[in-house]
Amino acid sequence: MKSHTRVVVVGGGVMGVGLLYHLALEGWTDIALIEKGELTSGSTWHAAGQCPHFNGSLNMTKVHLYGTQLYPKLEELTGQAVSWHGCGGLRLATTDEEVNWLKYVYGISKLAGYEGEIIGPSEIKQYHPYLETFGIKAAFRTVTDGHVAPADITNAMATGARKLGAEIYRRNRVLDIKLLPNGEWRVFTEQGNIDCEHVVNAAGSYCDVVGSWTGHNVPIANMLHQYIITEPLQELIDLKQELPVVRDPYSHAYLREETNGVLIGPYETATAHTCWDGQPPRWDYESELEPNELERIMPWLEKATERLPLFGKAGIKSIISGAITHTPDGVYLSGPAHGPKNYWMHCGASIGICQGGGAGKYLAQWMVHGQAEINMREFDPRRFGNWATKDYTAEVSVADYHHMYYCYKPAEQHDVGRGLRKSSLYDRLKNEGAQFAQIFGWERARWFDKSGKGEAYSFRRNNAFKAVKAEALAVREHVGLMDLSTFAKFEVKGKDAFTFLDRIHANKIPSKNGGIVLSHLLNENGFIESEMTITRLADDHFYVLSAAAAQDYDYDQLSWRLKPGENVKITDVTDDFGVLVLAGPRARDVLQQCTNENLSNPAFPWLTAKVASVRGVTTRLVRVNYVGELGWELHLPMAQMPEVFDALMEAGKQFGIQLFGTYAMNSLRMEKSYKGWGSELTAEVYMFEAGMDRFCKKEPPSALEERLLKGPRIQLVYLEVDNTDSDCMGNEPVYHDGKIVGLTTSGGFGHAVGKSLAFAYVDPKLTTMGTEFDVMVFTEKRKARIIAESIWDPKNERLKA
Ligand SMILES: Cc1cc2nc3c(=O)[nH]c(=O)nc-3n(C[C@H](O)[C@H](O)[C@H](O)COP(=O)(O)OP(=O)(O)OC[C@H]3O[C@@H](n4cnc5c(N)ncnc54)[C@H](O)[C@@H]3O)c2cc1C
Repeated sequence: MKSHTRVVVVGGGVMGVGLLYHLALEGWTDIALIEKGELTSGSTWHAAGQCPHFNGSLNMTKVHLYGTQLYPKLEELTGQAVSWHGCGGLRLATTDEEVNWLKYVYGISKLAGYEGEIIGPSEIKQYHPYLETFGIKAAFRTVTDGHVAPADITNAMATGARKLGAEIYRRNRVLDIKLLPNGEWRVFTEQGNIDCEHVVNAAGSYCDVVGSWTGHNVPIANMLHQYIITEPLQELIDLKQELPVVRDPYSHAYLREETNGVLIGPYETATAHTCWDGQPPRWDYESELEPNELERIMPWLEKATERLPLFGKAGIKSIISGAITHTPDGVYLSGPAHGPKNYWMHCGASIGICQGGGAGKYLAQWMVHGQAEINMREFDPRRFGNWATKDYTAEVSVADYHHMYYCYKPAEQHDVGRGLRKSSLYDRLKNEGAQFAQIFGWERARWFDKSGKGEAYSFRRNNAFKAVKAEALAVREHVGLMDLSTFAKFEVKGKDAFTFLDRIHANKIPSKNGGIVLSHLLNENGFIESEMTITRLADDHFYVLSAAAAQDYDYDQLSWRLKPGENVKITDVTDDFGVLVLAGPRARDVLQQCTNENLSNPAFPWLTAKVASVRGVTTRLVRVNYVGELGWELHLPMAQMPEVFDALMEAGKQFGIQLFGTYAMNSLRMEKSYKGWGSELTAEVYMFEAGMDRFCKKEPPSALEERLLKGPRIQLVYLEVDNTDSDCMGNEPVYHDGKIVGLTTSGGFGHAVGKSLAFAYVDPKLTTMGTEFDVMVFTEKRKARIIAESIWDPKNERLKA
């Protein structure tokens, strides 16, 4: 075994091997994979091998699509045989909301570029003569996806990697991993040590144990999953074409053909559980199956028999029962781990056979080129912090498993694993009818429901619409108050704090105390990585805010840019400070009653900050907001939030103060054409493509200079859309003259202007004001046109009032 290599991948399942192959394809060939048993001897060997295209996320669809395009070609590419079955699929819908979902995914299929159509129940028999169509409203038919033998693709990718120079060490358990003083990693194995620049945790069911050696929290649960294969059936032997894979919400199962028999895998909607009592498997666990629990899954098998009576006609040939890794949001973990650089996660996959190829390709791009060509945010392991404990992960993974074929409506979340992080105002807001959503473990109010009924989640506008209108208009016409304590917050202190922030940021850092700036971190290639609001509190003290979901991610973005010897201390103070947003034309009147600080415009202009006493509480008053009105953010000790909140609510009574949540904030920011990190601003785009040039005051990275000369590849535009009963959610295709020319990134209804608004990236040749497009919303083409930014208060007069 080598003693030094560029990359060590721990784990030889489909995820680890898929990455190894793609690292080699990207040109990194001094790489090694270490497997304790044989390749595929973890979860991979016993998987059912389905590779679906149907998916509600555009980025995940790209991952899936890459796999289904790669696997049929692997034999030609590597010389190793692969049994690809491109039989297509049918995703059934049994409710109107599921039909809406199929329609949304239809738009995704157009953007991703795979063949798919929505068909009615009467057409289903044409593709699947044995399926009973009771209760079915529609089906999404995919044409070129299918299933594959998991060991075939893994071994083929291993062969391909070896041919390019990668080494694979089997029967060699990794015992420990340690960070070395030079920033490299030492991997301790049964056969000796190996040092490397990058280490990748692809240890499948053991990934949390492997992560714990270096202090990493890896939120996975090993769920028990089973499928059943019947003896061959004459009907299927006689059938000329293979049946498509069916995914059925009624039986909550996948149903397909396997060697002329039927294969059925139910995802129980109750009684699912983790393997091994929540403990990791034994180290000598290899190519084993778990005892089956046929009795337990019987209710779903009975429903599957109603859907596919053929299943009941044949004897059972085998029952496969094994562990499937699951994360709380059902999406695998792939990307840098929080903390020291060059530790990568590549694990937690529950559809890993389908995803192994694409997941490997895009992580390899990230490792080799500093970014992937798709937005990796939803895979980034840092979307979970330490709040995602073992118990939380197990509880939510069980819920997620129960909902595998459930149709989540937009904004719908599990109601288990909640209440992990709460601001000190939680109970007060709850009493006011707050409808909370979980964000990075926090409970954050979306809107306030006076009816007590809660949100009726839907793909169309729902019962929140009217209440949100009242909240948004209160901010525009009077004054609103919001708890935005979820912000990620960092103190950057030290002699070199200014030069450090100024060196790493695209915008100029304020040179005067009290100055505020919105600024971005770009990667080496000039793409957008982070967005931060920076307030200069003193010459050597800066207060940095960013998105709630970016707390660990942005801590890394800052700390990874520190140079040795720089006198800078970065501290995460997220939990220490609460944040209130007071905004609206009467915001000054309300706040002035609670502080002696002079709030007049000359004394306290827009984009400045001061430390002041608000009802006796030392508060950072920051004159900035994301809603585009006169207003202040109040940053104060979390424990003292209630007294200041009560004082503001009391003082605001006479001015019609109203609480507002993130739904109203989205409406207000859309009217102000404020772009969002993660939707408009991602590592897929340059600042000038996002229309953010004015925030770039520095020399562009050299990689960007060439691009600036060539001009943008895509350009962000601000649209008014003729929507009627729903607004754009992002990832809707945008057409011009019948051709797709772009896609939406986010949208919402502007209540003060009475218009449905959206952002979209389009062909840069089509960015003239007034240019008309068709946006496909739930399969309907709705007219849209480019409007000038911003539709509300374009001169910022209200902000500066
Ligand atoms: C019954 C069942 C059906 C499934 N059906 C499908 C399907 O139809 N489609 C689909 O896409 N997915 C399916 N899956 C899911 C799929 O099997 C997994 O998502 C996938 O195999 C995960 O791959 P992996 O590489 O992450 O993990 P694994 O395959 O478990 O690989 C991890 C490897 O790491 C090794 N390892 C761990 N620790 C160490 C160490 N310390 N040193 C050295 N080596 C180590 C292990 O030995 C193991 O080989 C199914 C799963 C089950 C259980």
